[in-house]
Amino acid sequence: MTKRRIYLSSPHLGADEFELVREAFATNWIAPLGPHVDAFEREFETLVGSRHAAALSSGTAAVHLSLRLLGLKSGEEVFCSSLTFSASANPIVYEGGKPVFIDCDRASWNMDPARLAEALADREKKDRLPKAVILVHLYGQSADIDAIAALCTKYGVTLIEDAAEALGATYKGISPGTRGRMGIYSFNGNKIITTSGGGMLVSAESALIEKARFLATQSRDPAPHYQHSEIGFNYRMSNVLAAIGRGQLRVLADRVNARRANCEFYQRAFSDLPGIEFMPEAPWGRSTRWLTCVIIEPKKFGVDREAVRLALAAENIEARPVWKPMHLQPVFAGCDTFGGEVAEDLFNRGLCLPSGSNLTTEELERVANAVRRCARAA
Ligand SMILES: *Cc1c(COP(=O)(O)O)cnc(C)c1O
Repeated sequence: MTKRRIYLSSPHLGADEFELVREAFATNWIAPLGPHVDAFEREFETLVGSRHAAALSSGTAAVHLSLRLLGLKSGEEVFCSSLTFSASANPIVYEGGKPVFIDCDRASWNMDPARLAEALADREKKDRLPKAVILVHLYGQSADIDAIAALCTKYGVTLIEDAAEALGATYKGISPGTRGRMGIYSFNGNKIITTSGGGMLVSAESALIEKARFLATQSRDPAPHYQHSEIGFNYRMSNVLAAIGRGQLRVLADRVNARRANCEFYQRAFSDLPGIEFMPEAPWGRSTRWLTCVIIEPKKFGVDREAVRLALAAENIEARPVWKPMHLQPVFAGCDTFGGEVAEDLFNRGLCLPSGSNLTTEELERVANAVRRCARAA
């Protein structure tokens, strides 16, 4: 008999979502927009500490609109973290821009300020500074925002924060995503909280968020007939999904604690094994440990990352390699990259373990035992 599947990160509903969705049905607000969307935006603003927020159909849509709002022109460059999910970079191409990838550092697995400094100095010399820097906060951990923001200020380049994976994290007491000119979040099914699909764009500038709402609803001019002076998008969140999001916001703190507890469980379970290390938690904040990531050193551990992944798969346990860096993706072949060796090494040796906030102790033990069986020392 095959064992019950353990997923990498599955949705985890709280106590209130069903009632909030029922209310949307009862009031016949099954449309895009509606009172739950407005309430979700206000509650989200309060939670992350941002002045303005627009609820959208996805995090990818939020990245896309941020670049559209900046007026990115065809052929212009945008710097982006290399170690990330492709949705951080794809919208650069939607707008005809050219991604330039920046390596991460080992301390946080996020954009290395030294590499960014090098890249900005290079482009200043060539008199073509990028339109923006897209800074990703990976696997629940904030990048070193102060260092990155200082460089962006020095060169007059706009900072966009991709906090899709870092809702609930802190950086020196603030929420990642709220420091740059715009920040984006995701509520996809595998994220720390979910609306099944959805995203948020935040900014301290009301004009930007108002314009985002306009672009996201097909850029309809204020007229009784349908009139458009700009190309628009269908990117708004539905009222039903916003109802789910409101319930999920109420349990975010619990979800963060549960995911951190998963990581602590794995750390205890592997503490006697050589050759297995955890993604470090940077000193400037609290990671949500959205995903628990480990680095496997084959010589010391006994087998490599891929052997561990396959052993877990044989036990019906889903684990995945750390993101394949963007500068190694076939679709971004030929894009300029500053550094890249660190991201490549983390990809080659890194594995994401099941990390859902609804994992039971028995499930965590199943994962830990399967990993331990691979180790030479165990
Ligand atoms: C999930 C994710 C996105 C995209 O969010 P969607 O809501 O899935 O479109 C963007 N960036 C990063 C880093 C992500 O992990």
